[in-house]
Amino acid sequence: MNTDVIQYDVDEAVAHIVLDDPRQAANTMNDQFAPSLAKAVDRLAADVASGAVRGVLVRSAKRTFLAGGDLNELIAATADDAQAFFDRCQETKSLLRRLETIGVPVVAAINGAALGGGLELALAAHHRIAAEGRYDIGLPEVSLGLLPGGGGITRVVRMLGLQSALTKVLLNGARLRPEAARGVGLVDEIVPADKLVDCALVWLRDQAEDEVAATQPWDRPGYRLPGGAPSSPKIAGILPSFPATLRKQLKGAPIKAPRSILSAAVEGALVDFDTASRIETRYFVDLVVGQQSTNMIKALFFDLASINSGGSRPEGIPASSIEKVAVIGAGMMGAGIAYVAAKAGLLVVLKDRDLAAAERGKAYSASLVAKQVERGRLTAEKADALLGRIQPTDAYEDLSGADFVVEAVFESAELKHSVFAEIEKVVAPTALLGSNTSTLPITGLATAVTRPEDFIGIHFFSPVEKMPLVEIVVGDKTSDVAIARALDFALLIRKTPIVVNDSRGFFTSRVMSTFINEGLSMVSEGVAPWTIERATTQAGFPAPVLQLADELNLDLLANVRAESVAAAEAAGIAWTPHPADGVVDTLLGAQRPGKLGEAGFYEYVDGRRGDLWPGLAERFPVDKAQPPLEDLRDRLTFIMTMEAVACLEEGVLRTVADANVGSIFGIGFPAHLGGALQAVAGYEGSDGQVGAQAFVDRARALAERYGDRFAPSDFLLEAAASGRAFA
Ligand code: NAD
Repeated sequence: MNTDVIQYDVDEAVAHIVLDDPRQAANTMNDQFAPSLAKAVDRLAADVASGAVRGVLVRSAKRTFLAGGDLNELIAATADDAQAFFDRCQETKSLLRRLETIGVPVVAAINGAALGGGLELALAAHHRIAAEGRYDIGLPEVSLGLLPGGGGITRVVRMLGLQSALTKVLLNGARLRPEAARGVGLVDEIVPADKLVDCALVWLRDQAEDEVAATQPWDRPGYRLPGGAPSSPKIAGILPSFPATLRKQLKGAPIKAPRSILSAAVEGALVDFDTASRIETRYFVDLVVGQQSTNMIKALFFDLASINSGGSRPEGIPASSIEKVAVIGAGMMGAGIAYVAAKAGLLVVLKDRDLAAAERGKAYSASLVAKQVERGRLTAEKADALLGRIQPTDAYEDLSGADFVVEAVFESAELKHSVFAEIEKVVAPTALLGSNTSTLPITGLATAVTRPEDFIGIHFFSPVEKMPLVEIVVGDKTSDVAIARALDFALLIRKTPIVVNDSRGFFTSRVMSTFINEGLSMVSEGVAPWTIERATTQAGFPAPVLQLADELNLDLLANVRAESVAAAEAAGIAWTPHPADGVVDTLLGAQRPGKLGEAGFYEYVDGRRGDLWPGLAERFPVDKAQPPLEDLRDRLTFIMTMEAVACLEEGVLRTVADANVGSIFGIGFPAHLGGALQAVAGYEGSDGQVGAQAFVDRARALAERYGDRFAPSDFLLEAAASGRAFA
């Protein structure tokens, strides 16, 4: 059925093109968008020709302006759809081109979020006025493996010049508040929201006699690209550095979208508008039908949306309210947790062994807000109010009445047991009892309290104020109400919560340790350490694996192993040593535990990382024959996926979304693979094979060469054969 999602009206010689989808709360570029825009532009052309219209106002009747394309459609696109996508894209763009060359001035009144396609429509206007407010304007397509294919690259490059367009808008996919968008040059004016339409009408009236106002700068005679054309000596001189800089930023990871954006921008800057626009469409379609955008849209849009809308929250439990949070332990983690809770408006009591330690914990918040005040991001009043909500203490009595507990004392089961016994005596009798332990099983910790149903793991990542993930760990006796309350807390403090069942290392630490161990195994095999480091970043991880092992500390790895060995023995299970163990033991034997001890795989001077430790090559001589880089890259991602699959099979993971989002946000799994489980269905082999079967084949090849840990399990084989592996 055809529905007009755009209304067209003429009032006092001004045509109003009004975005107003009657079927949805927000305007999107769905299948009705182009036909509706075509109708509106046809009527507009006739009205301009007859002289009935002297200006055009593009505005929205919803709270937001216009969102981008329909991601359901984009994620499903395959190579077979390429031509259809190309044609549709070109058709929509020809409508935008007609609008900007219609012959009368066009103004866009941006009243709310204008991201992706929404901004691209506004860019086809001759003037953009945005309402004051806390909403986003930008072209964030790159973050989903796409590019702005609705004229965004072509127009932003012509508005701002190559360098600004690339670095400030296109490659970082920045979501800008209206003021920042004006600073960059994406909008022309900011006005109070209630004056938006009036101001737009005034602008149109003021341009009435001005023919130039009805044209885009790039359609005027003598137009020059701001900052210089690619052929100008200035730009030609720096042009070769663009791909090099990009490569450096991506650390060699095979992420397609930024490369395509760079190509479309530079190639488009060499040719006329219509050709540039067609080049942009070609790169866009290539990304749309490719695998990386599918992976990224799945994990970073659909999986994330499901989590943030409470997809992992048990059903039928009313929303909980939280007022006073008790944070026990004001060390690195406790200090960060106190900050994020106070920032969300909660009262926080921050307890440590002595007052000085508790105050040091609070001082961390003070240093964070001071920086924000200095940069003008926070007012002094708000900073004071935030700090006023944190009460440092050394007395358990001060936790009285707290309805939510997050314990973050040293990682010792014995200590945590005794601390919880004290906590229970003073907090509200129904308070949720959360522990930030990173390794201790929750079911075991819960034996220390009288209400194990209220006991839960709330595992933050360091640094707390920056890392978006929280891993909520469900013990054997944890109730659904406790899960719901922990989720409500996580969302309140603006974190992304995943929910996993209890297991040694839970989900994130367990998967992360397979990755570290794999990197360390390579050292024992005689792979050149620099090659291992490069393979990690080329696979798309944010940091090289040996560097990460140093940051985690090898003592910690040895402790976790000792605990796992003890647990296996206690359970009567045979322990399988890992090839990485010898590397950990060798480094610890040489007193090289990592960054904290200023000696690890790397050398450190005044806390700063220097070169790789020369002694490493003596203990683990580099082999003459080095394995293919592709094997090293795949080993690092495959081993994590194997462990994630095992977590799903064992019921540690409850949903696929938790695995994908948790692995990307918590432990740096490459986003272009779509997360640890999407990496199966989204696998792209170097031979061009794509999908779960190709993943299984590759895993078998790795198992043959590097060990049984890569052999696909029956569970994985069944999932692959089902054709919908971990959808
Ligand atoms: P930390 O050593 O920086 O801080 C621990 C704090 O607990 C210290 O200030 C100490 O004085 C205090 N403390 C000890 N006994 C106490 C008691 N009886 N009462 C009150 N306070 C007491 O340690 P951290 O890195 O903040 O780790 C804390 C917890 O968080 C551990 O369980 C750890 O496993 C977990 N964790 C750490 C990280 C990380 O990256 N560091 C990440 C996730 C989870």
